[in-house]
Amino acid sequence: MKIIMLGAPGAGKGTQAKKIAGEYNIPHISTGDIFRANIKNGTELGMKAKTYMDQGLLVPDELVVDLVVDRVNQADCTDGYVLDGFPRTIPQAEALTEALKKLGQKVDYAIDVNVPDENIINRMSGRRACVGCGATYHMVYAPTKQEGICDTCGGELILRDDDKPETVGKRLNVYHEQTQPLIDYYTREGILHTVDGTIDIDDVFGAIVKLLEA
Ligand code: ADP
Ligand code: AMP
Repeated sequence: MKIIMLGAPGAGKGTQAKKIAGEYNIPHISTGDIFRANIKNGTELGMKAKTYMDQGLLVPDELVVDLVVDRVNQADCTDGYVLDGFPRTIPQAEALTEALKKLGQKVDYAIDVNVPDENIINRMSGRRACVGCGATYHMVYAPTKQEGICDTCGGELILRDDDKPETVGKRLNVYHEQTQPLIDYYTREGILHTVDGTIDIDDVFGAIVKLLEA
């Protein structure tokens, strides 16, 4: 089962991708997490990516595509995977389609988690990320047991720089210009499924399971 998560920044792609990965025992591959891990480890890729991420811009396609193609070719991806945050541009989607075609494979589901812009600012300002393991919470909708402390690793929680309101507006514009066209792309491919992302986390997941098992 090869799944792509689509949706605006903060729509809940990562939240749902983790639940899908757990339910179906497939890897969750988040390009944002890969870049943040590279930034934390001070790699060259991380340093390059950071200059774009801090401005709310997309990292150039050439820094993303090979990384993802290599990752989905690893042994743990044989039974499928859930891609979260990739593709984000038409050239990325085309590169993925081509790379999979060479292997006689294709994406099975593109799931668009649909949340209007007006809800996104609220989502992002309440999102908190663990500096230790990268786990994501929400101050109101997905709180930790103990305020400010990660449930998983006990790490400190922070508001990501790119989740600050001044950057979120920019990221939403980038989403509409560069990523939203993927909805038409995957509609044409005949694999687009849209779920309402404004309802409770567990109800969004219920809708996703229903479509995956239909
Ligand atoms: P994305 O991966 O699309 O950027 P996240 O999964 O990190 O988004 O979700 C953004 C924020 O909104 C997080 O703080 C998350 O806990 C919260 N969130 C996710 N889904 C929902 C939902 N259905 N209702 C309320 N809050 C949600
Ligand atoms: P995310 O955690 O998915 O919200 O991603 C955080 C940031 O990482 C984005 O705002 C981009 O700057 C960068 N990024 C993640 N995935 C991609 C991608 N597929 N293409 C370009 N940039 C990306």
